[in-house]
Amino acid sequence: MGGRAKAEAELKQLAEQIRYHEAAYRAGAPEIPDSAFDDLVDRYQELADDLGIDAEERVDVRPGEDHTAGFETVEHRVPMLSLEKLSPNRRDSSGEPMSLEDQLSAWFRRRQKELEIDEVPVIVEPKVDGISVSLLYVGGQLARAVTRGDGQRGDVITKQVRQLGTVPLKLKGVRKGELEIRGELYWPLTEFARHNATLEKPLINPRNGCAGMMKRKDPAGLETTGIRAFLYQVAWDEGVTLPPTQLEMLKWLADRGGEVYLSEVFRTSSDAEALRYCEDYDARRQKLDYDIDGMVIKIDDLAMYARLGATGHHPHWGVAYKFPPERKPTKVLDIEVSVGKSGKLTPVAILEPVFVSGTTVSRASLHNFVELERKDVRVGDTVLVEKAGEIIPQVVEVDKSRRKRGTRRFVPPSACPTCGTEAVSEEIFVYCPNPACPDQVRERLRHFASRGAMDVDGMGEVLVDQVVDKLGVRSPDDLFRLDVDALASLDRMGKKSALRVKAGLDEAKGRGLGRVLNGLAIRHVGETMAEDLAAYFKTADALLEFAARYVAEDEDAIETVAPSKSTERGAIDGLARKSADSIFHELDSPAVRRVFEGLAEVGVDLGVEAADVREVADVAGKTFVLTGTLPTLKRTEATKLIKGAGGKVSGSVSKKTDYVVAGDEAGSKLEKAQTLGVSVIDEAELRSLLGSA
Ligand code: AMP
Ligand code: ZN
Repeated sequence: MGGRAKAEAELKQLAEQIRYHEAAYRAGAPEIPDSAFDDLVDRYQELADDLGIDAEERVDVRPGEDHTAGFETVEHRVPMLSLEKLSPNRRDSSGEPMSLEDQLSAWFRRRQKELEIDEVPVIVEPKVDGISVSLLYVGGQLARAVTRGDGQRGDVITKQVRQLGTVPLKLKGVRKGELEIRGELYWPLTEFARHNATLEKPLINPRNGCAGMMKRKDPAGLETTGIRAFLYQVAWDEGVTLPPTQLEMLKWLADRGGEVYLSEVFRTSSDAEALRYCEDYDARRQKLDYDIDGMVIKIDDLAMYARLGATGHHPHWGVAYKFPPERKPTKVLDIEVSVGKSGKLTPVAILEPVFVSGTTVSRASLHNFVELERKDVRVGDTVLVEKAGEIIPQVVEVDKSRRKRGTRRFVPPSACPTCGTEAVSEEIFVYCPNPACPDQVRERLRHFASRGAMDVDGMGEVLVDQVVDKLGVRSPDDLFRLDVDALASLDRMGKKSALRVKAGLDEAKGRGLGRVLNGLAIRHVGETMAEDLAAYFKTADALLEFAARYVAEDEDAIETVAPSKSTERGAIDGLARKSADSIFHELDSPAVRRVFEGLAEVGVDLGVEAADVREVADVAGKTFVLTGTLPTLKRTEATKLIKGAGGKVSGSVSKKTDYVVAGDEAGSKLEKAQTLGVSVIDEAELRSLLGSA
């Protein structure tokens, strides 16, 4: 692959991951820490910038969005943008890796050109890992405090900030004019630890803890948490005389009674020196009583800020440096081989638990046996583990100097560890070819029910395991045949939960062909490919009919997806001959055909109704959750109507849900909506939103 193709492939993958984790977050069950999500988004924006992708074509992610239901929101006079980042993964236009030195020097040169100056004095500051806050002072008095929100509008947290008592309520010596100060609310590590010691269920990290605290509706007690704020910028001002440089601004803010990190900053006009300061700071940051996630390099002369533009995402006056990911040594206790949903055998290192970049890691995928062989990881080895921008823990390398005598190279299995079927190799991967392999069946069903696929409310991995083990479920259509009594007989289930799962299954029937295809775990069919196939073929019948022709080597069929002329594009973006061969063979197999027949029998929608979306302003882009029995609409019908108007339907309520549509006997979802302050509407109100009342 060329540099551009590679970058495009990575961009696509990132977009999928972002959508997945965004959905998980929306559903109130995030799987990765916010900082890892931010890393994904940063990398995505950076690649999209490099590739010149238009804003409208990007996945819709707003920086660290933090709106909470029940908070008043206000528009920021100056948007609170994120910062451009220097990145170890950046490549130049020809696909060559770019060093941090080169990136920073290019940044300096661009600023020199824009400003028509030869020297660019900058200030290097720690990038505090807290939550941003905008503080409005009128006549020197704190009048309002607002979070970053989506960057354009934030939540008003004035009461909470006042209660802290650590942000100045009055700016010393300022009695007139207005100004907006930007700063970072943060929880000092010692204070955080002290507070955590008093809790039954400790908070995971200071940043999220601080964010949660500042969103408490009742501010009482916040003054004892120890949360503080660094002030670092004046975003706009009227009628106040301010100093001309960032360095003096920090001093000015300190003189007004604010907390600043003056002792930590460095001034220079040399890009090389600025970078060295950042790199050296990595050692120094271990001694700080607060977390930082990088450094910010800012132009010192404030008069120049107005002369520099901004892109939609970043201001041009600064750029952020990120520290290389934390790496920790730990021991390999064992190497297990796991069987994936499509039969892929993956070696997994079982590790002595180690705390890395915010979470405890005890397993790390070793990806495949070729990679394992290259790294030569052995049971008993000491390895270095990191999480990088990748959320998934990685074994970076083996510390060979600490290898004990008598360890042995890991030998790839010749048979499936679960069912014993002889393993087959395909390229660098090894597969269990037995579709009835118990591990595969289980993994496929887990995937089918999961949020990224059919999103069956109430059907988590534990329940899937139970229906496989105790109720003999083997195929996706079996799930829809489960009856309430059988479900109610399972561990930790009762009539109520069983009803909920049954309703979740009914609702999932209406998700459409794209989700079904994604859910079937066909090799080479991820979320995007599934949607593309669904959009093109429209119905399962048309798709299967095509697959049969393709497999019979019908020339028209092959020509449609893989044109013989290399200048032409196939009907489905990103589908090349090789993967097409594999996908259509699998679709045409008796096993997959049986599944489709079964799904049709139980009434799963195998078409694409979203094809004729007619957006309705009040519904488009909004997320709905259905609960209880509606007076006239079935769940599948309501789902269709909402999707047809451009809305989304999710299985569970989170603070990002826009509406809960509640009917009779609405259960826990309604309660959750009420505690989160999500709007609850009935069928009539839904119809009026849809304009069909
Ligand atoms: P990001 O969201 O990672 O692109 O970075 C932008 C955010 O960094 C801002 O919204 C601030 O909350 C935060 N930040 C922390 N420390 C600083 C600093 N010294 N200068 C500017 N922004 C900072
Ligand atoms: Zn097997």
